[in-house]
Formats: sequence, structure tokens, C-alpha cells
Amino acid sequence: MTDQYDVVVVGGGPAGYPAAIRAAQLGFKTACIDAWLNKDNTAAFGGTCLNAGCIPSKALLESSELWHRMQHEAAAHGIGVGELKLDLAKMQARKTAVSRGLTGGIKQLFAANKVTGLEGFGKLLGDGKVEFTSHKGEKQVLSAKTIVIATGSSPVNLKIAPFDNESIVDSWGALDFTEVPQRLGIIGAGVIGVELGSVWSRLGAKTVILEALPNFLPMVDAQIAKEAMRHLTKQGLDIRLGAKVSTAKVTGTKTKAVEVEYEMGGEKKTEVFDKLIVAVGRRPNTDGLNAKEIGVAFDERGFVKVDANYKTNVPGIYAIGDVIGGAMLAHKAIEEGVALAEQLHGEHTQVNYNAIPSVVYTAPEIAWTGLSEEQAKAKGYEVKIGTGPFAANGRAKAMEAAQGTIKIIADAKTDRILGVHMVGPYVSELLAEAVLALEFAATCEDIALTMHGHPTLSENFHEAVLSVDGRAIHAVNKAKK
Ligand code: FAD
Ligand code: NAD
Repeated sequence: MTDQYDVVVVGGGPAGYPAAIRAAQLGFKTACIDAWLNKDNTAAFGGTCLNAGCIPSKALLESSELWHRMQHEAAAHGIGVGELKLDLAKMQARKTAVSRGLTGGIKQLFAANKVTGLEGFGKLLGDGKVEFTSHKGEKQVLSAKTIVIATGSSPVNLKIAPFDNESIVDSWGALDFTEVPQRLGIIGAGVIGVELGSVWSRLGAKTVILEALPNFLPMVDAQIAKEAMRHLTKQGLDIRLGAKVSTAKVTGTKTKAVEVEYEMGGEKKTEVFDKLIVAVGRRPNTDGLNAKEIGVAFDERGFVKVDANYKTNVPGIYAIGDVIGGAMLAHKAIEEGVALAEQLHGEHTQVNYNAIPSVVYTAPEIAWTGLSEEQAKAKGYEVKIGTGPFAANGRAKAMEAAQGTIKIIADAKTDRILGVHMVGPYVSELLAEAVLALEFAATCEDIALTMHGHPTLSENFHEAVLSVDGRAIHAVNKAKK
């Protein structure tokens, strides 16, 4: 028997579940199929982000940051804390509870919005049909005018350092360590490398990150990336740039270790770690989906090819989120899901890919949107630059967190803000103002004339914008044209 729907979404992560909810809100009869199984065999909607990505990593970042601050900052506030005791099992249980609370919430949202949530695997059959296989193995065929591929991505498995899920692990494994490794190695100083490196380094692991590229976080403005690297290095993260790993092999039987060989600056080197995290990017999930077999076109890296309206080359089949490539971020996936549902309803919603917020949740945080100085110049803009150091910000000082800089990249001809790149306390939260500025095509003058509360961290955004034209009040102006 075939169940008839208007929309069937395959994948219930940040791309799929909002697409399903919005489609149902707009009156479409909608089902969302999701295959996620946690390590304890419980099914959960929410995909990588809620189960093994954004949320559990932020929970551990928060706990480890609190641990670090208690150790290193409490005394400066006049608080004696005595001997601190780490209960990692409890920290991990809190992390899991945070995730499970949110994934359980999706089921409630599905019920409230009348989305049929189906826990199991989805396979495209062609002719508007999807085969659903439940986790118990029961099969059902769904048919729909619109099918949405939202199957997400998985960690890249390096041939030279294959996962054994014990000593050499991916990001999910690294979120679940039951002991703090004494010696932790990480391949890749990308977002995952520095976030999870921060977690375990704060909790006591001697952490070395091996990065193949010569630059740290090349997508970030070079001045801000350089300052961020300085702060992270000072905290104890040993980030080795230009390190080309040739092999990683697990040695020992009872007590295992990982021996990593790499080349750096023309020299061959070896390091031995208790655990190795491989975080060198993610690849699209299309195994078993049968998409290629029914004619869906992929690009050369295996991402599903779509047009500006998320249409694949097969009529009635759309794709959104990590599986189509671009920025692999949960909020980009959410926006695509919502935009697609609204487009199916005849609306003209669009995602603005020029104003994507990006955050690395280290301490200090790194956050950016729009163009870096280098990118703006490469595009031919005549730029003007402003900077706001947190050292001059009253709130940051009161928080014992006066580290970092906000950098504004503006068009010298039109005064429009082209990009905002920052390192500093809670810059993830300040980023919303920067994104809004880009979205509304704000000029420096618009922000300069906007009153910011005192004392707040956001005042430093105002100061950075003022400094673009040499009129900052609380810092020495270094505006350049
Ligand atoms: P996914 O979240 O991967 O969801 C896809 C879902 O589809 C999964 O549940 C999968 O099981 C299911 N699926 C796959 N194939 C099938 C099938 N055939 N049938 C049924 N179901 C299927 N992004 C941020 O914006 N902020 C962060 O702080 C952040 N932190 C991260 C930390 C880590 C450690 C990691 C790994 C990622 C992080 N990300 C973060 C990235 C973010 O998780 C992804 O960009 C986001 O989850 C993509 O959403 P998606 O729905 O496209 O894919
Ligand atoms: P990434 O692309 O951010 O970083 C991978 C890094 O590994 C790069 O710097 C790359 O040069 C390096 N690398 C690749 N091959 C290497 C090799 N053989 N040896 C040494 N270095 C090598 O990927 P990621 O850190 O795995 O994260 C995956 C995705 O998840 C990213 O797209 C990211 O946006 C997303 N994510 C986002 C957040 C966040 O928004 N805070 C957090 C975690 C993950």
C-alpha cells in the first residue's frame, strides 16, 4: 500500500525538520524520514547538529570553559575555590541530557504541526516514490509530488589515518571520551579541530593540532585569525601549521597509542598520542539513497547538484543542507529548509549567502560575516578599515575578558559595511548585529548613529565602526584608507 503525501523530506536534521514543519504550516501533508540512531540505539530527529555536533559540542565547551575559568579566573575575582574535582561522567551526562531534551522537542513540534515523523531509512524509488524502512525492518512506500533530500553529511575518513573508533576517532567519538586523554592529537585545525581541541585541552589533555595549510582559519580575516591563534596558543593549544601527515597507526594491544608521522618545514617528525581525532572536513550522505540510480546529478565531490531554488535535475526532487555543499552550518541548512517550503507554496523567499554568520566557539570566540579585508581587496573594493579592541571596553574588563578585536571592513566609496570579523568575548552574540547590518546594506554612518547600551560588549561594535572614520571615543584611532 502506498501512503500519499504532498511533501516527503528524507533527513530530519537542521535542513529537513524545519523544511517539514514549515511545509506542514503552509498546508502540505508532510512526512519526514530520519535514520539517526544514537550509540545506545535510540532514534532521534535533529541530525548531526543536535545529536553529535553543534549542541553536544557547545555543552562540553561550556562545561570545560567553566572548569578553566574556575581554575584560572576565580582568584582574580577574589574567590577561593579550593581543590576542584572533575566528574567527567557527570559532565558527559549533562551534555547528553541537553541534546536529548532538544531532540525530544522536535517530536513535539512534529505533533503540533501535524508532520508525520518516521524513524528509519529513506530510499528514493523514482516516479515520486520513497521507500521507508523502519529501524525494525518494516517497509512502507510513500508517494509525494515533492521529495526533499536533506540527508546531511558525515566525517571524511582519511586513508592514512582510518577511524578505528577507539584510538582514532571522528568528532562524534571525540565528544564521548570517558577519560581525558593525556596526549591528544588532532588532524585538521578547522572549526572542529579547534573547538574540540579547546574542550580537551582545558580539561587537561596536552593537545597538538596538525594542520596541512600554512594559514590558520584561512576563511577568517588574516589579522583576526592571527590574533585568535595567539590567544589559543597562549591557552596551551599547540597548533602546528604546514604539517603534512603521512601515516597514523595504532600501536600496542592492552594500552593503545597512536603514532603519527608527518612532515613540517622539510623535516620528518613523529608524535605519539593516546587518542587521535581526525577532523578534516565532511562528505555528503548519499550511500543507499538510490539518488544517482534514479538520475539525480551529483557534482565532482559527491554533493547533490541544485539550482538557486534547490531543484535537482529530476523534476519533483529538491535538496537542501549539507548534502548540497556550501557552508556546512546548521543555520544555513535551516534557512534553506524554510526557504524551500515557502517557495513550494509560491512565495519568493531567498537565502542571502552573502551574510552567513560563522562562529568558532573557542574562548575568546571567533565570529565573522561578509568579506575579510583580503577578500574585499581581491574583489576590487577600495576598503576602509576600523578596529575596536576589547581592551578598551568596560563590560569586557568587568567580565575579566578584555581580549580580542572587532574589525570592520567597509567600502571607502559608498561607506557600506562589507564584512565584520571578530575575536573576543561572546562575539557569537554580537554577530547578529553585523549580519543585520549586511542584510540591510547598512553604512558605517547608519551604525554610528545607532545608540548602543552602556556598558555592553556591543558598544565595541559601535566603537569599531566609529574608528573606520577615525572618530572612536574610547580607543586610539588607527583608521586607514
Ligand atoms: P545532518 O544534520 O547531517 O542531518 C541529516 C540527517 O539525515 C541525519 O539525521 C541522518 O541520519 C539522516 N539521513 C541520512 N541519510 C538518510 C536516509 N537515506 N534516510 C533517512 N535519513 C537519512 N553548525 C553550526 O551552524 N554551528 C555549530 O556550532 C556547529 N557545530 C558542529 C560541531 C560538530 C562536532 C559537527 C560535526 C558539526 C557542527 N556543525 C555546526 C555543522 C552542523 O551540524 C551541520 O551543518 C548540520 O547538522 C547540517 O544539517 P543537515 O540537516 O543538512 O544534515
Ligand atoms: P573544516 O573544513 O572546518 O576544517 C578541516 C581542516 O582540516 C582544514 O583546515 C583543512 O586544511 C585541514 N586538513 C584537511 N586535510 C588535512 C590533512 N590531511 N592533514 C592536516 N590537515 C588537513 O572541517 P571540520 O573542522 O572537519 O568541520 C566540518 C564542518 O563542520 C565544517 O564545514 C564546519 O563548518 C562545520 N562545523 C561548524 C562548527 C561551528 O559552526 N561552530 C563547528 C564544528 C563544525
